Amino acid sequence: CISECSSTSDIENENENSDNEVVPPHCHITLKCTREIAGFNGLGEAVRRLDFRSSVRDGRRFNYVCALLRLLVSGKGITSLPGGAQRLLLQMLEEVATYVSDSQQNINVLRGLVQQLRALLNQENQKCWGKPLGSQSLWAEHVQTIQRIQDIASQIEIKEPGPNIRPKLHDLPEECVREIILRITDYKDLEASASAWSLMAALISEQRVWRELSHYHFTKQQIDVILEKMCLQDTKERHRNWQAIYHALRKMYGVREELQYTEILAFCRLCRCLFWPSAGHPCIVDQCPDFRQRVQEAGNSNNNETQPVPPAKFLQYFSLIALSSTGMAAAPVIIPSVAKHTSTLIFLHGLGDTGHGWATSMGALRTPDMKVICPTAPNMPVTMNGGFRLNSWFDLKSISISDPEDEEGIKKATRYVHELIQSEMKSGILSNRIVLGGFSQGGALALYAGLTFAEPLAGVMALSCWLPLHKSFPGVRKCPDTVPVLQCHGDCDPIVFYKFGQLSSSVLKSFMKNSHFQTYQGLGHSSCDAELSDMKKFVDDHVPRQ
Ligand SMILES: [Zn+2]
Repeated sequence: CISECSSTSDIENENENSDNEVVPPHCHITLKCTREIAGFNGLGEAVRRLDFRSSVRDGRRFNYVCALLRLLVSGKGITSLPGGAQRLLLQMLEEVATYVSDSQQNINVLRGLVQQLRALLNQENQKCWGKPLGSQSLWAEHVQTIQRIQDIASQIEIKEPGPNIRPKLHDLPEECVREIILRITDYKDLEASASAWSLMAALISEQRVWRELSHYHFTKQQIDVILEKMCLQDTKERHRNWQAIYHALRKMYGVREELQYTEILAFCRLCRCLFWPSAGHPCIVDQCPDFRQRVQEAGNSNNNETQPVPPAKFLQYFSLIALSSTGMAAAPVIIPSVAKHTSTLIFLHGLGDTGHGWATSMGALRTPDMKVICPTAPNMPVTMNGGFRLNSWFDLKSISISDPEDEEGIKKATRYVHELIQSEMKSGILSNRIVLGGFSQGGALALYAGLTFAEPLAGVMALSCWLPLHKSFPGVRKCPDTVPVLQCHGDCDPIVFYKFGQLSSSVLKSFMKNSHFQTYQGLGHSSCDAELSDMKKFVDDHVPRQ
């Protein structure tokens, strides 16, 4: 089994090595034009891209991730997911169990999850023979994972720290304990700690604790309404009973769900992506400072550029998660232009990847008036992958010069790419302001689709790839022979051999006047900073800003 989906992660790793600049985990989300949320997004992909597995071990994110897991395990959620996503979620649950066991914290959270898993097992076992949760071997694997999680949970004992470990909570000065209490955001936890220890109880009866809690959860306007209602507006501060005020506020407005979590995923309306606020995300606004002003000029003024995404809302983005297993392609990842849209970059990913794999790096190299479209290939059986399904533009029997190719599949995928280009042209973008690009299998498709498109494109960028159906050229060429082509290839590519790229280049040069082949020394089957900056230059040169 091979995997080409290394694209972005390789780039990110290289960034990490070269200049300590790590791209924070983030995930673009596709919304329907009606602003209604569509289920075009893969949960497994999002969980991977947002780094949920290590977030389990991050104290700030633990409760959020657990709330999500709870929702998925309790509803029918998990059973309606594709196998890969089911496996990923159970791995995360196991991670939660290990973390709880190591840290000796949040044991109740784990116990709750274990109970739900047990209920899930019972429910699935009672279903008709044969098909619980899809395939039987997958189910057997799940049963084993759930068993391991139960074992971990049942072995946890709360150990009292030994007598030599200092300081104990009881040894802390009152001011420290007060600071701890002021960080508790759930009133139930506050009331529970009061019953644990007399000093706690004394501190919790302090007005300050409840006053700060009220200000934390509610706005000044809300507090004013309640003060008015309780006829406390004119009462001196020290005569106010903030515990009562807090409960009145809670009953009137409810507690904001996002405040129950130390960290909650956020959604940036401008980039349409999800991210962890503590890590940030590569935002359009930072790349182009006048973007916010342009949005306001366009009348879409909205100060809430980022909004919190509570767990239930997060799952709404994934309402139709089974799409990929039906063979239907997910909607393309679209990054809007920063300034008025006058050009478009369409970039096709490699075998087994998704549009998300390249969206960030393509978003970074686009010009301000350029929109980026990163479509995702349909999920299909791939001969080279032993017939197992992968996101693939067409079937691949092997990647070599002499072996037969999936001509029908290549032509079908080409029609899809031409439709994407035509749809941009219909919306007013000139063909010579549309750049087509792709990596590996996607690069091969970009070459074929670009050369067989009758209108002149701004250019074609073909990374680590080959010219498919090369014997049919130049006969099948429809584009003018002046269309610029940038071919990029690492000379250590172990998957699409460098030699294959070179041969494709010599065929190309025989009938295309502006074809350039760029070599990257030591680069394998992935991308690098030098390549990205060459691509940026290619885009700047051939799609000048208007
Ligand atoms: Zn943003």
